[in-house]
Amino acid sequence: MENGVGVERPLKLHMLPFLSPGHMIPLGDIAALFASHGQQVTIITTPSNAHFFDKSIASVDPFFLRLHIVDFPSQQVDLPDGVESLSSTTGPATMAKICKGANLLHEPIREFVEKDQPDYIIADCVYPWINDLTNKPHISTIAFTGFSLFTISLIESLRINRSYFDKNSSLSSFVDSNFPHSITFCATTPKQLIAFEERMLETIRKSKGLIVNNFAELDGEDCIKHYEKTMGYKAWHLGPACLIRKTFQEKSVRGNESVVSVHECLSWLNSKEENSVLYICFGSISHFSDKQLYEIASGIENSGYKFVWVVPEKNGKEDESEEQKEKWLPKGFEERNILNKKGFIIKGWAPQAMILSHTVVGAFMTHCGWNSIVEAISAGIPMITWPVHGEQFYNEKLITVVQGIGVEVGATEWSLHGFQEKEKVVSRHSIEKAVRRLMDNGDEAKEIRRRAQEFGRKATQAVQEGGSSNNNLLTLIGDLKRSRDRKLE
Ligand code: UDP
Repeated sequence: MENGVGVERPLKLHMLPFLSPGHMIPLGDIAALFASHGQQVTIITTPSNAHFFDKSIASVDPFFLRLHIVDFPSQQVDLPDGVESLSSTTGPATMAKICKGANLLHEPIREFVEKDQPDYIIADCVYPWINDLTNKPHISTIAFTGFSLFTISLIESLRINRSYFDKNSSLSSFVDSNFPHSITFCATTPKQLIAFEERMLETIRKSKGLIVNNFAELDGEDCIKHYEKTMGYKAWHLGPACLIRKTFQEKSVRGNESVVSVHECLSWLNSKEENSVLYICFGSISHFSDKQLYEIASGIENSGYKFVWVVPEKNGKEDESEEQKEKWLPKGFEERNILNKKGFIIKGWAPQAMILSHTVVGAFMTHCGWNSIVEAISAGIPMITWPVHGEQFYNEKLITVVQGIGVEVGATEWSLHGFQEKEKVVSRHSIEKAVRRLMDNGDEAKEIRRRAQEFGRKATQAVQEGGSSNNNLLTLIGDLKRSRDRKLE
């Protein structure tokens, strides 16, 4: 049988997500996807991160999907017990220790792979050692990226042209005649990020292939061809992985425990009209100063639109004094916007995938983390892009310049990580302007929304029977089985 699903012996896959919600959530969903197609998957993680996968596991027969826990080396990296994910960091020092601890997982995972040998390891390409987990010729590694293929291709193009950039240090525009799009950056990529990206490309290059949490139509055929030509092999678009969850209830239990109940959230959303609410969230590891939050509050209030705004836990503490609160929230903001139910502030982890899939959400102000983007697109929601760090500035270009499904807020300072204090503040005027552009239902807003909804339909089709991602998954399973069986012959 050609497409693998009917072939007798299931694939035995070990999946290794990096320790950050933006990496664990999509790979958990991809694990459930393989398991739901009859393959045997083991997700390898650490004790405090197990809850990220509980819900994926609960919905699938344990024969097909299970967890294997390896201890996080808390003592070795001098971290308190339980601090094992980038979303539980309190600053750059803790973040560095978590990354160090994650890298030290190499040895216990290698030992596990030795004892319990899979056919393939599917591992996050953020780990530089995924291709050294085994020296057994019958076990190969497939890299998983939490980025789009557009971004990976762009990074590769920038790498190829690096000497040109080094000579033009103030370079802000990027045109590579081989890259399918002409891209201009108003921000400079941090040097350490470039080094990280190049290590990641190296890891991808050494693996057997690349799994992408996106659908081919969004990356675009020209970009996929560019990737295959420059990197020399195929990438498999299997997403959007979030669409494996169908109901509000299933979507509400992704990642950390939500600080609001599904009921409270839905009853607020249900009371609003279609496309009338702006949703604002900057992911799980980006931190804004109180000054910046103040500008956001002022900008959304001045725009006059209804909103759901996810703010960090520290800004919403029960015991927060009035003096502390007024540093990030204009005086009387809650009386004017929250008590009358015009706005809803979620202080801590929000059920994002559920909120985005509600029809009242008309636009999403996002930091351009890849999962947030793909979740918005899956729901057909246009975006106000506000990249903060990492690869988010590349993602922004796919959304605004290439696909025309969002507008830029005007963020121009590219940080290495989400804790880096910004020198520039995006003003309330820029925020209000961007919100109006997408929410005022004028000609530009209508066209952007039309395009976003069209991509939403394509995303849904991609994961259905006969859709591009579904076909890729079946082909991949079949290819991997044949390749395994040939090696074992
Ligand atoms: N997320 C969520 N609730 C929150 C914050 C984040 O559900 O309050 C989820 C979001 O839906 C996405 C992931 O966490 O799946 C964040 O990944 P993304 O790539 O967007 O950004 P990162 O956090 O990695 O910067």
